[in-house]
Amino acid sequence: MISQPVQFFKFRTHPSTLLSMPILPLILALFAGACASRYKVQYGHDQQNLPAPVTSPYSPLPQAKPSQNAQSSVRAGAPNAKPRTRSSPPPSQPITTPRTACGAPHYYSSVAISESVVALTFDDGPHPVLTPRLLDVLKEHGVKATFFVIGKNAKSYPDIVARIVAEGHEIANHSWSHPNLSGMSDSAVLEQLKETNKVLKEATGVDARLFRPPYGAFSVRQRVMTYEKLGMPSILWSVDPLDWKIRSAPSVRSKLVSGAHPGAILLAHDIHASTVDAIPGVLMDLKARGFQFVTVSQLIAMTATADFAVAREDAR
Ligand SMILES: [Zn+2]
Repeated sequence: MISQPVQFFKFRTHPSTLLSMPILPLILALFAGACASRYKVQYGHDQQNLPAPVTSPYSPLPQAKPSQNAQSSVRAGAPNAKPRTRSSPPPSQPITTPRTACGAPHYYSSVAISESVVALTFDDGPHPVLTPRLLDVLKEHGVKATFFVIGKNAKSYPDIVARIVAEGHEIANHSWSHPNLSGMSDSAVLEQLKETNKVLKEATGVDARLFRPPYGAFSVRQRVMTYEKLGMPSILWSVDPLDWKIRSAPSVRSKLVSGAHPGAILLAHDIHASTVDAIPGVLMDLKARGFQFVTVSQLIAMTATADFAVAREDAR
């Protein structure tokens, strides 16, 4: 009887084949579970831990979703944790994400290195007056930074974009018009990125390699999609001075300097005079503490050793 072929979904098959059929889905489910759990435990940034979208003076988000924002800011694995804002994670718990659980480096908020090296990043420009002023400051201090520019602005000021690259900084993509991408279709998201990439390429001759979603509002699925379609990892941050909200150079200086840690990605906006005013002091203070400055791509390149260590850990 047992060896008698049986009917199964219109196909005739043998019982031993039936026994083996659930194994593949089971293996896939276990694999996915392992990836998901490791993702939360070791890398901290799942969708629920996404920095909550916040308002920005550049392009304010609708205020109608405070509860959604609060919910999305609760840390995974800490159901009773109080919602937090877009601020950086506590210095004692740097979120270091050189890659995902499954090995694809689709986003970073900082990198796992022990050297006192940070990446200074500027969003929302280029600004016709403030960005050139900032470039002067960076040149004076011999510091390289990363500029996440808005495509529309880049189109208006291609000479400034060209200067950014000519002076050794990294140019990167911050969408075309700074929308909240989290609710947009994949095709609309890709259009925002591609159009900006095109303008940056025309202005500089180089390809932008990194993307920063406006407000940090980008689901894990969207990060993976963007990485798979365009090869661009999403770059978040680990130190946020809230310079768009608190327009005070001493405040920006204090928050950036006190928050800095090895592998940090520092967030700032070169569309605010108070931020640009703060940068000379930030550079002086961080240099005095032994920090060096690199671009985000250079910082990511420094994680090769850390990735190797993680891979060895996995192999055990
Ligand atoms: Zn922005």
